[in-house]
Amino acid sequence: MTSEKRRIFLVLNPVSGVHSPDMVWRRFKQRCEEAGHEVNVYRTTGDENLKSIVQSAAAQGYDLFVAAGGDGTVSAVADGLYGTRIPLAILPVGTWNALARNLEIPLLIDPAIRLITGEHRELEIDGMLINGRLYLLNAGAGLSAETMEKTERRQKRMFGWLAYIWNIVLQFFGLQLHSFSINVDGTPLRVRASEVMIMNSNLTAIKEISNRLELRPDDGKLELCVVRARSLPGFLLMVWNILVRKPYRNPRFEVYAVTRSAVVRTRRPVRTQADGDILGYTPLEVQVVPKAARLIVPLEGQFGLLPALEKISSRVLETIPHVVETPRDLVDQFGKIIHPKKGRHD
Ligand SMILES: [Mg+2]
Repeated sequence: MTSEKRRIFLVLNPVSGVHSPDMVWRRFKQRCEEAGHEVNVYRTTGDENLKSIVQSAAAQGYDLFVAAGGDGTVSAVADGLYGTRIPLAILPVGTWNALARNLEIPLLIDPAIRLITGEHRELEIDGMLINGRLYLLNAGAGLSAETMEKTERRQKRMFGWLAYIWNIVLQFFGLQLHSFSINVDGTPLRVRASEVMIMNSNLTAIKEISNRLELRPDDGKLELCVVRARSLPGFLLMVWNILVRKPYRNPRFEVYAVTRSAVVRTRRPVRTQADGDILGYTPLEVQVVPKAARLIVPLEGQFGLLPALEKISSRVLETIPHVVETPRDLVDQFGKIIHPKKGRHD
């Protein structure tokens, strides 16, 4: 990969994240040119048709695209490349960069550029088509869309991802459960939930969640998650139960594999989002697209220490036996980890 000379097209979202866009472009251009690549940039304004800009750059012979921005920028560029086999790299300069985290792409600018210009591999990941547009991470109805709508760009620039956490906390006050009627690959389902989310990739940086939910962006299926938690403690207990136990034993959470399509309807309109963009209101119709995008990712074990740490955390979590129902149970569980012998006599 290193000796190949490429024509690289950078799509730079100048209002995403906290970095100076001029610095990002200068550094990227310099490193690419040092490596002998040709490079061009497009700065997004938010008003353009990014899909057709990416498509026409692809038609001009650019053979590697780089999305510098958050998850929204990455998925918009992937949408433009959909149907080509042109690879896409991520320069994670957004607020949270969930996809980059999941694909173990370095989050610092210099190592992320080195991955693009140096050694790497290509991974074909699945996508979801919604109203004819490709998305890569997740689509949801309920809490996620309501939170995104309330998290303003101004807040994100000042406080980064903490802005999302703060708004999730606020959302839990006065949270309502919605009545959903869902169709998963032709099978109907009725649930009451605060959120129904269709996931291709983990939203968090916690690898254990991907393992427990069998969330892999390259396995040809999506996971439809029904979240029943309706308070902040309930939500935290739900996450804990996902971590320590198979999710299907979890009273606040259910998960269904989607291999073809999912439709989410509600009696009253509920807000919907996909990859952080507000879509509108239910119904939400999602079609699974296997191998929809070709991403530049690190080689196996290229960024050293993390896999070993993950193995240790996974062992610890497997030793914890019970589903917790109340905050008191959670305290007991911690007690058993700290004093394993005492716990045995309970
Ligand atoms: Mg998958």
